[in-house]
Amino acid sequence: MEASLFFEQLLGVKAPWRITRVTQDADLHRVDLFVEHYPGIRFPCPKCETFCPIYDHTAEREFRHLNTCQFATYIHVRIPRIHCATDGVQQIVHGLAEPNATVTYEFERAVLDLEQECSLESVCRLLQLDWHLAFRLQEEAVVRGKARKAKGIPARFGVDEKSFAKGHRYETIIYDLDRGTVESVHEDRKQESLEAYYQGFSPEERAQVEAIAMDMWDPYIAATKAYIPGAEKKIVFDRYHVMRLVVDAVDKVRKAEHRALQQKGDDTLKGTKYLWLWNEENIPDYRREEFEQFRHLDLKVGRARALKENLRHMWDYSSPGWMRRYFQDWYIWATHSRLPPMVRAARSLKNHLENIVTYAKHHITNALGESLNSKIEKVKRLACGYRNRDHYRTAIYFHCSGLDLYPKRTSLPSQIITA
Ligand SMILES: [Zn+2]
Repeated sequence: MEASLFFEQLLGVKAPWRITRVTQDADLHRVDLFVEHYPGIRFPCPKCETFCPIYDHTAEREFRHLNTCQFATYIHVRIPRIHCATDGVQQIVHGLAEPNATVTYEFERAVLDLEQECSLESVCRLLQLDWHLAFRLQEEAVVRGKARKAKGIPARFGVDEKSFAKGHRYETIIYDLDRGTVESVHEDRKQESLEAYYQGFSPEERAQVEAIAMDMWDPYIAATKAYIPGAEKKIVFDRYHVMRLVVDAVDKVRKAEHRALQQKGDDTLKGTKYLWLWNEENIPDYRREEFEQFRHLDLKVGRARALKENLRHMWDYSSPGWMRRYFQDWYIWATHSRLPPMVRAARSLKNHLENIVTYAKHHITNALGESLNSKIEKVKRLACGYRNRDHYRTAIYFHCSGLDLYPKRTSLPSQIITA
């Protein structure tokens, strides 16, 4: 079989198009396919779809296509321009690639598939691709996906901060709690960061919001109170962040007590950090016996841990009123514990209590955000640490937003009338 016919079948090239020439260069590891249309035909006007005569052709354009064996493959074609009586001179829709693209639809899809799995650097190495092109295709896919996405603010969302570039800079990330996707990413973790998101919606749209999970972070609270009607009853401080505050207090008590004991030559608390931090049910079997022995000692960290374990039951209540009452009892116990870190944690929680007990109504946490966070960590690893903020943001949207990223072939110039 002739090479041109072989490639026509492989690529599905049909009349009025044909492959007129195939060249291969073993040194450059490339195959070049030259595509032309039959003479004396008409193409549809891209605006009014009337079949019109050819006016002229663009200069030859080159499109990277999927490899042929180990050879990079390029398609060469001069795109016809037609003359339409209504719309003037127009370039036809060739159906080979996105407008202004230098790669075919098939190649672009292959790049996006690989980019889902590997770092941009790996994609470039595997496909011998320029980094800027690989990034541009990712960026365009995100722009395309965002344009296709239905506009609107999620009814229930989470707000969290995420550090990047070795933890010195932050992004504010908004999660759709029902879809499990990243909704939006904004610079920094200031009040303006979250306000920038809210400003993208009308007051009517913002009024539709039902519940927002977040950390007890004042700038986010202020932004939400300024923009979301009825925010006082809609903000839910994330229970994992709330518990982390108390867990950190337990750890501070342990450190102080361990230091004091060591000064008396007592190493009792050495190597016990996690015994006190683990939830009761998470203590591993092999350390259970050791833990039971500690129970009989009168340790400050033991009391702190008991407070922590006790507070966990607050989330079992199904009404804000009962949560509040449970907390008030716990608060008295905590503030009389004579454990300064626990007293401080208790006071902080009391200040935020009204939006902790909203959990009983809305039952939302940022736990989903946490699983997305681990996805974002993966994005960071794939990127070997983004230095450029825009690249990082683009990658988060690309990997975590559930967007419809792939290009769609608009139409094929298959309907041809011989002139
Ligand atoms: Zn026209």
